[in-house]
Amino acid sequence: MPLSVLLLGVQGSGKGTQAKRIAEEYGLARISTGDMLRAAISDGTPFGKEVKPILEGGELVPDELMIDLIRERLQKGDAKEGFILDGFPRTMPQAEALDAMLAEIGRPLSVVFELQTPDEVAIERLRRRAQEEGRADDTEEAIAKRIQLYHQETEPLVGHYRLMGNLVGIHGDRPENEVFAEIQDALEKARVA
Ligand code: AMP
Repeated sequence: MPLSVLLLGVQGSGKGTQAKRIAEEYGLARISTGDMLRAAISDGTPFGKEVKPILEGGELVPDELMIDLIRERLQKGDAKEGFILDGFPRTMPQAEALDAMLAEIGRPLSVVFELQTPDEVAIERLRRRAQEEGRADDTEEAIAKRIQLYHQETEPLVGHYRLMGNLVGIHGDRPENEVFAEIQDALEKARVA
């Protein structure tokens, strides 16, 4: 069965970097909702115009919009060969909607990773990225908001997936290659399971 992977972790945990490596190594479609939203913003679509101020403030895009976006994305051909979700779900209603969608297509999550990174480390990485890339939501205020919302809205998903029995915790405050090696170990186990 193709792999379906979810990566949870606060912004700045190295989640995006690891998601890219996993996608490449295992030939999975990387579904990054942040990238999809940023693409809509730079294309200037009506949807992009609607979500732009939300992203800039570090707030969350409403669940209904995100759920529709993911439902459409999961129907594309590449997702059928396996996928990794990076940035979705971020709230309990999103997680419940995702569980239902995946149950419908008979593709439950193979594994859910939680990249555990202390806030101070994540904040430091985001500040560095702000200097290097100048992302619109890497301002001090938006960084603080995103981290607060992660703890408030997204962290409860860790408990949800732990109960479902497919959660693997990974210490994210280590060199990228070490983190990736541990992820690979867990993925090999999920593949033979
Ligand atoms: P990211 O690149 O994953 O850090 O996402 C950047 C921004 O996009 C977030 O701060 C949110 O404003 C928005 N966003 C991305 N994914 C979601 C989601 N699943 N639910 C709500 N907002 C999202």
